[in-house]
Amino acid sequence: MKKESTVCVVGSINMDLTISTEKMPEQGETILGGPFATYPGGKGANQAVAAARVGANVNMIGAVGDDAFGVTLLDHLKGEGINAEGITMTHEAATGIATIILSENDNRIIVAAGANNHVLPELVDKHHELIKHSDVVLMQLEIPMETVARTLKIAGEYDVPVVVNPAPYQSLPDDILTESAFFTPNEIEVEAMKNDSLFDSIREKLIITKGDEGVAFYDDGADQFVQGFHVEVKDTTGAGDTFNGALAACLGSGLPIDEAVQFANAAAALSVTKVGAQGGMPTSREVEKFIR
Ligand code: ATP
Repeated sequence: MKKESTVCVVGSINMDLTISTEKMPEQGETILGGPFATYPGGKGANQAVAAARVGANVNMIGAVGDDAFGVTLLDHLKGEGINAEGITMTHEAATGIATIILSENDNRIIVAAGANNHVLPELVDKHHELIKHSDVVLMQLEIPMETVARTLKIAGEYDVPVVVNPAPYQSLPDDILTESAFFTPNEIEVEAMKNDSLFDSIREKLIITKGDEGVAFYDDGADQFVQGFHVEVKDTTGAGDTFNGALAACLGSGLPIDEAVQFANAAAALSVTKVGAQGGMPTSREVEKFIR
């Protein structure tokens, strides 16, 4: 990413609580597992960190609870250089968490969205200046759909393009389909999107991530494909989030779509060579060195 870019992420912020275990407990069973670890997560926060790591200025709009996890996560985001003035600390719900049980061949996850359900249209209205002063807006679907719709309206008023990462997939209302500039589903999400009534009319807005295979997108009046990089995989968690954050950073800096996809594909490949969702997110310099 060469030129300055400002990305506004409107999205979720979670604390991931992970516990490793050799075997999953059966119904009604208590077992001794461990070790236990906490990691900052949530698709919104992850993508905000990915964009900041590659050098974008990042404004985030979101919510945490007025509790210890909320304090830790806010500090963490500020430590990544993210402007957190759009993040509210609500008294009405606990900070979002994901409880993740990891065993060698099985993962089980329960998400309690908590404060993320309080990322309401009014919060975006209140912080509309952050959108106005951004080059691109990036959203996911871990916040209420009405907030996604409201953000699109505000971004439209200021001519700021919006990238929607439709994850976790939920059926998208027509106005969201028509008003977004790009959608970045993975292969499973794009299959689900085919049920959306206007799907055929938004094919040219799709940037489809296909894991180690690479990325399919549309440019110059035709379908395009960028091959994935061959890398030694340590942990694919957060590959999609790295891709989205880096992509938004590049689009915000004015890079054409093909160059933005190539950069994000490289950033995401690098992210899978390290453990943890945010732990593996590379800097711009690391991506450029890797591509050369
Ligand atoms: P996740 O949920 O694991 O974060 P995702 O399902 O949202 O990911 P993927 O399509 O699996 O998204 O991966 C996103 C991008 O990350 C891919 O398009 C590719 O650029 C990169 N990537 C993912 N896995 C690999 C891999 N094994 N080797 C190289 N690049 C990868």
